[in-house]
Amino acid sequence: MKTLPDLYNQEQLAFCQSLPKVELHAHLNGSVRASTLRELAAEKQIDPELCKLIEKGDRTLAECFGIFTLIHQVTTSISAIQRITREVLEDCAADNIIFAELRTTPKSRPEHGLTKQTYVEAVLAGIDAFSEQNSGMEVGLLLSIDRRESAEEAMHTVTLAQQYHSRGVSGLDLSGNPTLGSWTTWRPALDAARASGLHISLHAGEVYRPAETSQMLEWRPDRLGHMCCLDEQLRSSLLASHIPLELCLSSNVITESVAGYPDHHFRQLYHAGHPVVLCTDDSSVFSTTLSREYALAMAAFLLDRREMLMLAKKSIDYSFAESHIKQRLHTAFDRAAAKIQHSSAS
Ligand SMILES: [Zn+2]
Repeated sequence: MKTLPDLYNQEQLAFCQSLPKVELHAHLNGSVRASTLRELAAEKQIDPELCKLIEKGDRTLAECFGIFTLIHQVTTSISAIQRITREVLEDCAADNIIFAELRTTPKSRPEHGLTKQTYVEAVLAGIDAFSEQNSGMEVGLLLSIDRRESAEEAMHTVTLAQQYHSRGVSGLDLSGNPTLGSWTTWRPALDAARASGLHISLHAGEVYRPAETSQMLEWRPDRLGHMCCLDEQLRSSLLASHIPLELCLSSNVITESVAGYPDHHFRQLYHAGHPVVLCTDDSSVFSTTLSREYALAMAAFLLDRREMLMLAKKSIDYSFAESHIKQRLHTAFDRAAAKIQHSSAS
């Protein structure tokens, strides 16, 4: 696997842990704690070969897909969904994240008595359970449309997002196997979502599909994720669009969407002044944390502490949080940043 775990040093990691951070691209299921996965798997008849993958730290791409299969098999009950939501948020708070915008695909699993609606309610109950115990971190939620879904299923997810908008669902995401389906299938649902005031982020350019990526850029989503496989024309269009881009270094390297950390398109986009935000994608699957992703960027792209602070602070503005929450986050950030700068100077 093309990871360079010692690319950064402990001092850089400690600095990045001390930074207040904003997580804008984290899939709920891909962020499940290993200990919880182990417990949930023990309660069910799960293939022991799959369970062995939980103990593996550095995973190959095939092993990452195995972990996704395992997660899908164990997160089937309302109580499990509530629990993993609360725990993922607790882990974000422990990593000094001040705003976590999670995303998840509402799943209908009739064999487990689960509908898309009860799934969303379980996630919201998990967020409420977290917020009752923790006051320092704000939380947002996006509902994902899976690329395997039909136009009708996509519209159902949009209807749920509209229904739960006042409960904290701020928008929609399009994700899933990038080789499947067609943008035109989900576009009407996303048009309806946007017309009702919901924000939209699209996974785009994960594989080289220039016609689709071009159509997505022309549609002007509020944010994009990945954009790894672009030709010169698409890269120019992206830069001209100024659409904030969620970048997940470990995910892109492990899934071999980019050749290695120093080659990651973060470098070019960052130096071109394009709005970028570092995210984890699936922290559990890729054995990472947001602090680690910041440390990887700091080391791979030779960024100094001031640049890392600015990178973290700007991320607040790219979130889908309401403006009064963004204001509160900036105030909290500035207070924490002043302490960091003071302790660095002394
Ligand atoms: Zn993703």
